[in-house]
Amino acid sequence: MTSSPSDPGTREVRRRLQAAVDGQVISPGEAAYDQARTPFYGGFDRHPLAIVRPRNATEVAQVVTLARETGLELAVRGGGHSVAGHSTIDGGIVCDLSAMKGLELDPERRTAWAEAGLTAGEYAEAAAAHGLATGFGDTGSVGISGITLGGGIGYLVRKHGLTIDDLLAAELVTADGQQVCADPETNTELFWAIRGGGGNFGVATRFQFRLHELPGIVGGMLLLPATAEVVAGFVAEAEAAPEELSTIANVLPAPPLPFVPPEHHGRLVVMAMLCYAGEVEAGQRAVAPFRALATPLADMVRPMPYPGMYPPEDLSFHPTAVSHTMFLDTVDQGVAETIMAALAASDAAMRAVQLRVLGGAMARVPAGATAFAHRRSPIMANLAAFYDGPADRAVRQAWVDDLAAALRQGDDGAYVGFLGDEGEARVRRAYPGATWERLAAVKARYDPTNLFHSNQNIPPAVAGGS
Ligand SMILES: Cc1cc2nc3c(=O)[nH]c(=O)nc-3n(C[C@H](O)[C@H](O)[C@H](O)COP(=O)(O)OP(=O)(O)OC[C@H]3O[C@@H](n4cnc5c(N)ncnc54)[C@H](O)[C@@H]3O)c2cc1C
Repeated sequence: MTSSPSDPGTREVRRRLQAAVDGQVISPGEAAYDQARTPFYGGFDRHPLAIVRPRNATEVAQVVTLARETGLELAVRGGGHSVAGHSTIDGGIVCDLSAMKGLELDPERRTAWAEAGLTAGEYAEAAAAHGLATGFGDTGSVGISGITLGGGIGYLVRKHGLTIDDLLAAELVTADGQQVCADPETNTELFWAIRGGGGNFGVATRFQFRLHELPGIVGGMLLLPATAEVVAGFVAEAEAAPEELSTIANVLPAPPLPFVPPEHHGRLVVMAMLCYAGEVEAGQRAVAPFRALATPLADMVRPMPYPGMYPPEDLSFHPTAVSHTMFLDTVDQGVAETIMAALAASDAAMRAVQLRVLGGAMARVPAGATAFAHRRSPIMANLAAFYDGPADRAVRQAWVDDLAAALRQGDDGAYVGFLGDEGEARVRRAYPGATWERLAAVKARYDPTNLFHSNQNIPPAVAGGS
């Protein structure tokens, strides 16, 4: 469905939205429209009928009700970083929560009520002012909404678990326009489902998180020349490290950044992010084995405040990329050689294999306690390649698929946060076994008509069906 600003249907929807909310309603033809319809990832050139920015939960409820009554498509946007482009939509309404950035910190009780439009970086800055933190992901501009609803694997994952392990309560607007709370005592099945089940069950308007004391970290980027030995060694060290240390190793051709020695531009490197959440001396001891893997090309690991892990970003950058997320049991020398060979064989402008050693606090939560079922998966691998146009996309997709097939081990699960638009079979991989049926039952209760389907969708269970 395409929309024109003068179309009577468009005008009517805009009139109804403007009557319903005090927040911004941005329509085709307006100066702000192109920027407002653009999510983080390029390649999703969609034209919503309107982007509406509600200012509170009541306005969110009005938007949900209007979408339900008109039958218009509805996309919900927190920070706009959906890998699958789910937070923008052709011909429908984008409910963009970016105007809802309220944050009530209670440093004494170490809890925070955070509105759904905050980003991880904004939250981290505000919490760090009190020497506190909640773990989100590796990127400051990612929305707290999408990452929390998917699980949340970040720099504190081994020390404090997933983001959802610090989620104490949430407020949502469900498909019938009701505002509900979900916590361990209220709407308990809903509370179970939103901890990993994504945006399937309603629009989250506020989250309550536990905060941890974190006056500072030892962290930052360590750049090592990549060889199979270094890659396998890095993973082994990350597995052996104390739980205070969480790491992300990106194996990729070195970009021509100022801190990369020119002779290494384009050569394979391990661009690693390390974050030790504890005392400085112990942190320096914990990162020493990584520094010893090879002579670092750049070493920016140092004591700093936690938000230092979220450097400023270029928000006008909208990469087009194909990707595949998977779990691995091991990255030994042979696996590392496969990774190195594949990266060397590709000529994509950027291609990368990201390795995240998990475990620690995340793995101590029982698999069925939340809708994130991959507690015991020891390593997450994300494969990605940039593409330039449809023909190139096919080439890069084939590369990603071939590498994924070569790397596949026993674990065929997937983390929903990094899934692209890959179809139901892959969504089911995110929710293995009984998780899928339980989510489908919660969906049937809170969104029986599947109003919220611009997401990694879990169709509602059919009564009496399988
Ligand atoms: C550069 C980059 C880095 C990333 N790093 C990490 C990482 O380190 N760890 C990690 O775990 N994940 C990471 N991710 C994945 C990320 O967590 C997911 O893409 C997440 O969904 C993004 O959240 P968002 O609010 O920014 O996205 P959006 O595109 O706004 O939303 C994503 C999905 O969530 C739904 N949604 C968003 N807000 C709400 C809401 N308030 N209520 C109901 N549904 C909602 C949307 O409808 C959509 O389906 C990264 C992604 C990118 C692009």
